[in-house]
Amino acid sequence: MRRIHLTLIALVVALGTGSWLTAEQAQQGQAQGQTQQQGQGRAGGQGGRGGRGGVQIGPGEECPPGTTMVRVGRCQAPEFPPPSIVDYRPRTTLKVAAHPVPRAKFPVIDSHNHTTITAANIEQMVKDMDALNMRVLVNLSGGNADAVRQKMEYLRSTPHADRFRVFANVSWNNADAPGWAERAVADLEQAVKNGAIGLKIAKNLGLDARKADGSRQKVDDPILKPIWDACARLNIPVIIHTAEPQEFFSPLDMKNERWLELALFAERRNYNPGDPTFEELMGERDRMYAANPKTRYIGAHFNWYANDLGRLSKQLDALPNLVVETGAILYDLGRQPRAARAFFLKYQDRVLFGKDAWESTEFPYFWRVFETGDEYFDYYRNYHAFWKLYGMELPDDVLKKLYYRNALRVTPGLPKTGWPQ
Ligand SMILES: [Zn+2]
Repeated sequence: MRRIHLTLIALVVALGTGSWLTAEQAQQGQAQGQTQQQGQGRAGGQGGRGGRGGVQIGPGEECPPGTTMVRVGRCQAPEFPPPSIVDYRPRTTLKVAAHPVPRAKFPVIDSHNHTTITAANIEQMVKDMDALNMRVLVNLSGGNADAVRQKMEYLRSTPHADRFRVFANVSWNNADAPGWAERAVADLEQAVKNGAIGLKIAKNLGLDARKADGSRQKVDDPILKPIWDACARLNIPVIIHTAEPQEFFSPLDMKNERWLELALFAERRNYNPGDPTFEELMGERDRMYAANPKTRYIGAHFNWYANDLGRLSKQLDALPNLVVETGAILYDLGRQPRAARAFFLKYQDRVLFGKDAWESTEFPYFWRVFETGDEYFDYYRNYHAFWKLYGMELPDDVLKKLYYRNALRVTPGLPKTGWPQ
């Protein structure tokens, strides 16, 4: 409190004759602003902090809150109260060619989805998938052996069995209890017999799963090794989602590029005292990859390194047992189309297509970023990305690998025939 008070005093001093607007004054200013746009602008000139003369700052200093830099070293407040980031939706005047891609150029396998197929949704799903040119959808939420059996029995009873596949899951709580590994491996083996073609690990391993003594179950704990060994023996890939985007582990402040998302969704805030850090979780997962070279891993969400492709490149160079998947990171690829294109060309055998959430209207944004050279277009979720997307214009050979060839190699249980050469 004391510190805040001193900061306020310092700012008021720095502002010289400027004065702070109360929320009420700001609202009045906004109302006035609407009627005074051609007038004298008194609200800003007299009442706005940093108005008219502005605020001088030194080299390396930042403009005070509510002001923006108008000339080197000089900050000024807008004449009218600024809109919130929720309400500011400027319409672009840029006219550039647009090439929406409702249907992918080649057949697609979505290696990261969570849609359970039932009699209630199967016909609509197949219709939507056909329109997108998605040939196979992999449901990573298969569950244990029994749940996998039920899902596969249903799928095999339909004419669409080849359009869907299922991964199994393991429950990670109390992994230190006697006999846990034997039971988990036995269930996984049965799940594969029942039709599962891989193992999916959700972010709860590392974030929420607990040992019997209440401590956090770490991703690289050697007691989990029998599971990784079993996946190598069963020749199934392990797709693992560890942690969350980097900024979910940073405080919710004006520097956080996921501010809106974190302010909207409380459960995405991972920066409470005692929480593991982003780097701790990355370290655990990356050591686990390295310690199990015979197990094939699919790093979900680009391992959350899509914002640092240099780091991901080093990791892929070091770990031949690793590929990555594109779920929920399009906003990072689309804001660096040249670096992303170079990455996709260099690592064209190491990237699988995946999206994560089923929403048929969102897939065409992926096709457009991958396939076109379009510029400055919107992403589908404002709160993910405050920026525009650009296309990567990937060549056909790379698209084929991304859309289906790499998945077919990494996941032998996928339907093998009928793919274009
Ligand atoms: Zn997922």
